[in-house]
Amino acid sequence: MTQSRLPSRRVASTPESIFQTISQLSAQHEAVDLGQGFPDDDGPRHMLELAAEAILGTDGHPQNQYAPLRGEKNLREAIAKDRARKYGQTLDPDTEILVTVGATEALAASVLGLVNPGQEVVALSPYYDAYPAITALAEASFRPVGLRREEGWSIDREAFRAAVTENTAAVILNTPHNPTGAVLSREDMEFVAEVVRDSHAVVIADEVYERLVYPGGEHLAFATLPGMAERTVSISGASKNFNATGWKTGWVCAPEELLAPIITAKQFLTFSGAHPMQNAVAWALEEAEEWSAEWLVEMRHRRTVLAEGLTRLGFTPLETQGTYFLLADIAEVCPGMSADEFCKTLPEKAGVAAIPLTAFTHDPEDPSLRTLVRWTFCKSEANIQRALGRLEEHFG
Ligand code: PMP
Ligand code: GLN
Repeated sequence: MTQSRLPSRRVASTPESIFQTISQLSAQHEAVDLGQGFPDDDGPRHMLELAAEAILGTDGHPQNQYAPLRGEKNLREAIAKDRARKYGQTLDPDTEILVTVGATEALAASVLGLVNPGQEVVALSPYYDAYPAITALAEASFRPVGLRREEGWSIDREAFRAAVTENTAAVILNTPHNPTGAVLSREDMEFVAEVVRDSHAVVIADEVYERLVYPGGEHLAFATLPGMAERTVSISGASKNFNATGWKTGWVCAPEELLAPIITAKQFLTFSGAHPMQNAVAWALEEAEEWSAEWLVEMRHRRTVLAEGLTRLGFTPLETQGTYFLLADIAEVCPGMSADEFCKTLPEKAGVAAIPLTAFTHDPEDPSLRTLVRWTFCKSEANIQRALGRLEEHFG
């Protein structure tokens, strides 16, 4: 084995994740971290108790050994019921649902199971940074299509239509959208459905922020559009739905024909995910509606606190329709500076961490994106205020 063959071409063009870079800087400078999207608050108390019981075996059923390949049956049943209730989707828990190690493994197993080397994966840009990295693992080509920023964010329809070709194996559609906080409109989703209907592409619908849509918006599950159920892989998880990013418990819903190759890939990525969390997440899916509604109200409040604070300092926040991210333009406060430079120096200079939007795009020099910074408001209100106080000391 010669060193010159390393790294493999599946990882050679993948940079260090921006979350790793910024989290490290944040820790090094003891910054208030409004970067990586994980909440300060835990999820519903009873969900945590159920997981603890499953580890300690206090209910007489310790779950410290392998979970079944597809995941605990009661979790799959709870996922099916949740999607039936919310979206009117009918899913067979035995053949159409798979529990995964976070939404990340769901995405990886889907692309590895459904996309051939040399084929293309289309995604809206800016995009969650795992999409190009996972596409590269499958030795496929990543084809970003720009979202247009006018009043809100919308799909550049001409570019999207041109991007979906004979060679497109999958379209990754993320709504509510990280990092912009946009919720795609019904018209845009119907447009995507119309384009893929004439193609061979499957749609991988990344819906991890499905419960974080603010009043006035609505989450539409892509699989429920006419003719789309048979070609859609829907992905979600407990990370963002129930404030449990450390549990890495996600899931995939797809027709059996699509799910089978995804399971084949998943078998040899991890076989199964953490077992003790599964009953607990099943409970949350069935019983935590009230907690979700309260958390949404709280998120909306903290968004206002953050947006007003940033505005006072001269930053220009954009609208957030969903997720717990807020984009703000730094151009007025730091003329000429890119978001990348701003975010890489902010922890040291001001003791605050945030993520540059440019980490999620193929064209970091795009003037409409170059100065946008993503701030998360899922941290405690006290931490948001501390961050604003530090920013004020530095920029005020
Ligand atoms: N998709 C999007 C859009 C995300 O923001 C994230 C991060 N939560 C993931 C997928 C991965 O989620 P998980 O933590 O469940 O792996
Ligand atoms: N999804 C989280 C975010 O966008 C980060 C996940 C990660 O660190 N890989 O902030």
